[in-house]
Amino acid sequence: MIENPTEARPFEAEVSQVLHLVTHALYSHKEVFLRELISNASDACDKLRFAAIAEPALTADGNELGIEVRWNPDARTLVISDNGIGMSREEVIENIGTIARSGTRKFLEALSGDARQDSRLIGQFGVGFYSAFVVADRVVLETRRAGAAPADGVRWSSDGIGTYDIGPVTRDARGTTLTLHLKDGEDEFLEPWRLRELVKKYSEHIGFPIRMPKLVDGKPGDELETVNHAAALWTQSKSELKDEDYKGFYKTLTHDFNDPLAWTHNRVEGKQSFTLLLYVPEKPPFDAIFSGRDERKGLKLYIRRVFIMDASEQLLPAYLRFVRGVVDSDDLPLNVSREILQENRLVSQIRSACTKRTLDLLSKLAKEEAPRYADFYRSFGNVLKEGIAEDTENRDRIAGLLRFASTHQANATQNVTLEDYIGRMQAGQEAIYYLTAESWAAARHSAQIEALAARGIEVLLMSERIDEWVMGYLTEFQGKPFRHVGKGELDLPLEAAEKERREAAEREAAPLLERLKGSLGDRVSGVRLSHRLTESPACLVLEAHDMALHTRRLMAEAGHAVPAAKPVLEINATHPLLHRYAGESDASRADDLALLLLEQAEVAEGAQLEDPAAFVKRINRLLLAPVPGP
Ligand code: ADP
Ligand code: MG
Repeated sequence: MIENPTEARPFEAEVSQVLHLVTHALYSHKEVFLRELISNASDACDKLRFAAIAEPALTADGNELGIEVRWNPDARTLVISDNGIGMSREEVIENIGTIARSGTRKFLEALSGDARQDSRLIGQFGVGFYSAFVVADRVVLETRRAGAAPADGVRWSSDGIGTYDIGPVTRDARGTTLTLHLKDGEDEFLEPWRLRELVKKYSEHIGFPIRMPKLVDGKPGDELETVNHAAALWTQSKSELKDEDYKGFYKTLTHDFNDPLAWTHNRVEGKQSFTLLLYVPEKPPFDAIFSGRDERKGLKLYIRRVFIMDASEQLLPAYLRFVRGVVDSDDLPLNVSREILQENRLVSQIRSACTKRTLDLLSKLAKEEAPRYADFYRSFGNVLKEGIAEDTENRDRIAGLLRFASTHQANATQNVTLEDYIGRMQAGQEAIYYLTAESWAAARHSAQIEALAARGIEVLLMSERIDEWVMGYLTEFQGKPFRHVGKGELDLPLEAAEKERREAAEREAAPLLERLKGSLGDRVSGVRLSHRLTESPACLVLEAHDMALHTRRLMAEAGHAVPAAKPVLEINATHPLLHRYAGESDASRADDLALLLLEQAEVAEGAQLEDPAAFVKRINRLLLAPVPGP
């Protein structure tokens, strides 16, 4: 062991799976390996710069942090090296040989089988390192952790199939050198101009210098030159930056291959100074799909150009977790910890600024580019809605950004704003009417909105799972209260004549209501005359503070205990079915009819019947019953 402590170790099963895929399936967009390896080298430099804050000795040599990309046409190798943090033996095993990190499995789950798509995904899951095996059939990594002795270097090598070798090596400099032995047919990456163009492409927005050998007689010479800008993009002034620069930086930052939808770049000067560069992605990045509210990332905190940590959770509220970007503070202490960030006053100001800028950006997009805003809303609308509950301070602004389907339009598209709605309110209409239901169709065809529709009053139709919860927090907009049309009594403004007519109808219907109560017993909490129906015979209505029936079902399915709430059956006494009920002298047939009215209302509302077989029998009995004479 001591003589030759190099050992062969197996990759964990899932790593092998990823490697197999990488080598066999991800053959398009091969060049992403350069992006991934350069990005790792840059991360390593960032980490060292951060570590050196607490331990300045780590960078005492004074060498500038940077990355080199060399190639050797004779040996057919490509070499990428950095003088960043490096790794210990344990770190190599942990970071490269195992799946202690959750990304590997998520990556496997996210694969679509479309090689083109999948190979671009690799960097979003923390498995970017393995992309080396797309072009190389042998990869050698030599590394030395900053602060470790030359004899404590580590040499790792593998052909990417099943196992890797790991052992000691003496290494004079800290940092990491990765040597790729290119597969046959990958000579493209040895062509000086092609390689240089790719390295430039993927390093343009890396904040450390990337050096490559100058060409001498078409071969790599000894002298190096820097091929990128090596300046943090957000420190440059807006007027110097083009859209392409912002888009390129976004891709480097996120490993997303789509352009961002919108961005905002601001320098704030005052009691404290900081720079924000915030992006709204076009589609949910894969990490955002897989990680929920608890595992947020994507907003990087820098302090005076030094990368400190991903601080999404500290710098953004959860409902803006789709935002990606950079915050660079001039005033926070370099030795901040997560704990300090939690309660720091400067941080809470930055957080408010990030929130405000993001909402400004979304408002602007909504106003100036409605179709692009609609794209955004499709991807992230339900996340944004959480802000109604979460961010009381900005509730009105967020409400203004919401989009709804409504009875004003023929299809389910969510593009009605609350301002649109208020602009169309009828004279005398006090409230904003809405209905939550299981689907748009269930809401659109619900009996509960008939009377409103007949009077030309618009109803917002909500069918996302989160809607009912959100509406519990949204009680008014621009002074107009919200009213759920399926709950409580509808309080439409009435003219005197209408009021009298109603009172007369109530008196007349009293015996009918009594009889129905007798037929239905405790299946309902009450029966009353409806003022919301015009065409349907009956519908179910809840008390104003009850949870809607479809939400109750969702909660129950998810295993939550839901308090019992019995709806009220509202009837339309002018409907022929109720005439028929009133005129039915056979008591058991009358009960059948009454139960059928209730069950119809349940079905229309999307409920599962308690006893579907009994329902079918009831229908058949009635279908076969002699039709009462005229
Ligand atoms: P990610 O960069 O998203 O974490 P990768 O698969 O690209 O995923 O890299 C895995 C890990 O390997 C990194 O998180 C890092 O800890 C380590 N690593 C890779 N390359 C280097 C390097 N050049 N220097 C130091 N550590 C590295
Ligand atoms: Mg990486």
